[in-house]
Amino acid sequence: MSEFAGRRAVITGGGSGIGLAAAKRLAAGGASVVLMGRKLDRLEEAANGIDGALAVQCDVTDAGSVEAAFAKAREGGAINILVNNAGIASGRPFHKLDEAEWRRIQDVNVDGVFRCTKAVVGDLMSSDYGRVVNIASVAGLRGGPYISHYCASKHAVVGMTKALAVEWAQTKVTVNAVCPGYVETDMAEGAIQTIMSNTKRSRDEAVAELTKMNPQGRMIQVEEVAETVAWLCHPNSFTVNGQAIALDGGAP
Ligand code: NAD
Repeated sequence: MSEFAGRRAVITGGGSGIGLAAAKRLAAGGASVVLMGRKLDRLEEAANGIDGALAVQCDVTDAGSVEAAFAKAREGGAINILVNNAGIASGRPFHKLDEAEWRRIQDVNVDGVFRCTKAVVGDLMSSDYGRVVNIASVAGLRGGPYISHYCASKHAVVGMTKALAVEWAQTKVTVNAVCPGYVETDMAEGAIQTIMSNTKRSRDEAVAELTKMNPQGRMIQVEEVAETVAWLCHPNSFTVNGQAIALDGGAP
């Protein structure tokens, strides 16, 4: 597979979970990948396992850090693919949600996508190929209890995706969102732990609570999300633009 040969891809939050799987998949297709995230040691360890990968420290909540990180990534060539994957989540009933927690989530999940997309716009516009893939969530398509702050952030990402797709439709760039249900990662583990501690349920019961949201009755695997990212980045996917693709086993 060499569908991404000569392409340079930045994956934010690339040291773990979905981001790492996406980086591996794009690299397998021939892309040179840049893993960005806050923890350099974890990024370097991840990058060591991927041919030609570069690890660059980046906190997407810090404009200066984003600017420096993308400048470093660009030293190896213009960036063609941006996977906005860095994200955080928490569960909180709305009446217990304070402004600090609301802001913390928006700062990473929405403002981070804004900052990183701004950082690559020049590269994308001056090329004959460009892809932005935003890792949103099914929470960007519908509501759910105790996640109003997370839902709001992911709906914002889907909105930004659709708007940029239209704004850039006359360029060679596409902008799409991937919207998974629960994927087996550290983030989903956090949700399992929250359910267990808040409801005193067992781990199996907490997992069942998450998997019942998926009609297939299971947790999604990171490789499945990565495959959709790769499909959106494929040269033949140019017509797919402004989409928010649900990966949820067919939830109604
Ligand atoms: P994860 O916790 O393994 O990955 C999130 C990554 O983002 C981590 O590497 C983390 O270090 C990084 N990150 C967090 N804050 C950052 C910051 N300020 N700057 C830079 N990097 C930062 O979990 P994941 O499940 O792989 O999450 C990846 C994306 O997928 C997130 O956007 C998440 O909202 C989304 N998502 C996850 C699920 C799920 O069930 N796991 C479902 C739908 C969507």
